[in-house]
Amino acid sequence: MPEKAPDLPVFPYDAVGITSTIPIEVPLAAGLRVIDLNNVFVMSSDPGIFLRKAEAEGFPRNCCSWIRGIYGLIRTLEIRKVIFVTGGDCSNTQAMMEALVPFSEIFATFSYPYPPSPGALRQEMYRFCAGLGTTFSAAEGVSKSLHSVRRALGELDLLTWDGNRVTGKENHQWLVSSSDFGGDPVSFERRLKAFLDSARSRPVRPKGLRIGLVGVPPIITDLHEFVESLGAQVVYNEIPRQFSMPESCHDLVGGYLAYTYPYGAWPRLDDIRKQVDLRKLHGLIHYTQAFCHRQIHDMIFRHEIHVPILTLEGEIPGPCDPRTKLRIESFIEILKEKFG
Ligand code: SF4
Repeated sequence: MPEKAPDLPVFPYDAVGITSTIPIEVPLAAGLRVIDLNNVFVMSSDPGIFLRKAEAEGFPRNCCSWIRGIYGLIRTLEIRKVIFVTGGDCSNTQAMMEALVPFSEIFATFSYPYPPSPGALRQEMYRFCAGLGTTFSAAEGVSKSLHSVRRALGELDLLTWDGNRVTGKENHQWLVSSSDFGGDPVSFERRLKAFLDSARSRPVRPKGLRIGLVGVPPIITDLHEFVESLGAQVVYNEIPRQFSMPESCHDLVGGYLAYTYPYGAWPRLDDIRKQVDLRKLHGLIHYTQAFCHRQIHDMIFRHEIHVPILTLEGEIPGPCDPRTKLRIESFIEILKEKFG
């Protein structure tokens, strides 16, 4: 019997892939359709296909699955145009980009400055705009047009931690998708507003332990559901919330300076501490990715944050493994004993 062809996601021929969150206002101002490769990879029916493709081409197995998956996705779907984030995201992106030179077009690069400074970020945005054939003021115009969808994402987050009507998984999915607005901000906003209309009239969820999930977006597909099945609620998704640009700023530079993810542990720590207090969190789960340099941040967080923290490590896309489940169960039990 012939082998069944793998069920591959479709990548629109006119779209540009991104390797991480960028000032999306710039490519949108240039009339481009933008799709976050991380979302296509992890939401595909079999992300393992892309990992195997990367390994078959010689990609080191001790690189994290996100970066291997993006490489394998670009190669498998023959994605030609990619915007690579070469500073402030992943220390592996530049080498991955170099490996792709024979196969894909480096459509553009974007690098968040370190240390963060308004002048350096503005200069980088000017360079980015010029490279894509648009202007900073056109990008600022797009930024204003995105205020309404960003406000709606803020309401979704509020309905999670304050209104108690949106689940941790729903919160994660909507906020993580705001890195590219599903490739179409107008239809994304329409779908989001329809979701909010129904969520507002839902019954309030029963109260439970309040958990925050910090760290890079988990590659474990059922982490939120598993935590919530134990009577806890995930009411804070740190990095997905950052993707939605929650700090209202009057200008593009201010907005992307307030975005904590590219600027290291300390700006993130300020944000996490504020949210722990605001959302009255009982504990944090720090999700870390195997082979990720950001794992080093765990020791800073453990030293500086004074609520119980469970550190988890995931490696390949898929559901929670038994050991991870056991560790989460023990953590929730301890919190229940402590907080009643
Ligand atoms: S999880 Fe870490 S190593 Fe992997 S892509 Fe993200 S930043 Fe890079």
